[in-house]
Amino acid sequence: MKEKNEVKCSFCGRSKRETNVLIAGITGHICDHCVSQAELIVKEEVSSRTQGDLEHQLKLSKPAEIKTALDAYVIGQDDAKKVLSVAVYNHYKRLLQKGNTKEDDVEIEKSNVILVGPTGTGKTLLAKTIAKMLNVPFCIADATVLTEAGYVGEDVESILSRLLQAADYDVAAAERGIVFVDEIDKISRKGDNASITRDVSGEGVQQALLKLLEGSVVNVPPQGGRKHPEQKMIQVNTRNILFVCGGAFDGIDKIIARRVNTQTIGYSVEEEVHRIDKENMLRFISPRDLKSFGLIPELIGRFPVLTYLDPLDADALRRILTEPKNALIKQYVKLFEMDNIRLKFDKEVIDFMVEKAVEFKLGARGLRSICEAILNDAMFELPSDKNTETLHITLEYAREKFGKSKVMRLKVA
Ligand code: ADP
Repeated sequence: MKEKNEVKCSFCGRSKRETNVLIAGITGHICDHCVSQAELIVKEEVSSRTQGDLEHQLKLSKPAEIKTALDAYVIGQDDAKKVLSVAVYNHYKRLLQKGNTKEDDVEIEKSNVILVGPTGTGKTLLAKTIAKMLNVPFCIADATVLTEAGYVGEDVESILSRLLQAADYDVAAAERGIVFVDEIDKISRKGDNASITRDVSGEGVQQALLKLLEGSVVNVPPQGGRKHPEQKMIQVNTRNILFVCGGAFDGIDKIIARRVNTQTIGYSVEEEVHRIDKENMLRFISPRDLKSFGLIPELIGRFPVLTYLDPLDADALRRILTEPKNALIKQYVKLFEMDNIRLKFDKEVIDFMVEKAVEFKLGARGLRSICEAILNDAMFELPSDKNTETLHITLEYAREKFGKSKVMRLKVA
């Protein structure tokens, strides 16, 4: 005989006796069967929505469109932009394919990217702009702080902790994110001789990174690092995370030059090689050069896309100051505008800033310090000055302020 007030699952009507667990809510109950069923429905729903988002994204972002979007923020670097746009486009195709793979389908491999180029030429900016454009979680990791597990420094898993943070701990979103690993050249093998001390920050880290790149499920400490051993690990699948690495690879031009020269001995292309000036050497970079530099072949194999960035000349620096959507000059104009002051620069001032950035070998990063040096006094005084409506920066003004500033001490010998 059934009890009158027996509790039942409010979804399927099973009585308490018929279930393993019956969870009480505010006004009803749910049994373990229904919980499992509901989980499946949620997963299906979320994955079909993600798939829809991806298809939408892919329709919108053809390689040419991705490059155009990059053009709005990054000056020059056309080759890198093209290669990166195609890599990202193919990455998205790969994600789409995963949802409907048939037995006979050709599996598209991941297109992780290595960007080689002098510091401050836009490697981080390129990766950051792509992530912003695609609206996927993005994080920057510095390879120099990484060490093999168990040594002082950070484990490679800390990279994924950062990505999780960027994704607000939405694991599914993080699993489609982009990771930028900076200074990858600094973890190159320290010489070929087997030494008595282990190479824990060089080859050791490269080996550890392989695990992330291979596409595996990695246990990630949510806060990063080993400082909180009690915290619960989060499982992250790295299969669909796009890794973009950047490095200056100082001295690799000599390795390339040596290879190109030895390869062409006795051929008619010899003349061609003579024409290649030193500046352009990076254009000829190949995976072999990375190996000679000290990256292990397994790691290089995980980065099928390799491209280079050009050093920034005076013309590029001038364009960086004024052209990108968030160009420095535009930012300062905006800052003054908020105090109802119209900021104007003479053309010679822009030339002066570029000249100093080149002279002091400060690159694009130095442009900001130069602007600050010139405008700091004005930014300090003018907000409290009700009478000034326009600030006109002349060459004379710029020279005087710059002369007094600390930037002068930054001069690189
Ligand atoms: P790195 O190559 O060392 O990663 P970044 O991308 O961090 O250099 O560049 C440093 C800063 O210099 C950027 O935030 C940006 O303001 C500026 N910058 C560098 N290269 C470019 C470029 N090609 N176009 C526009 N801005 C650039």
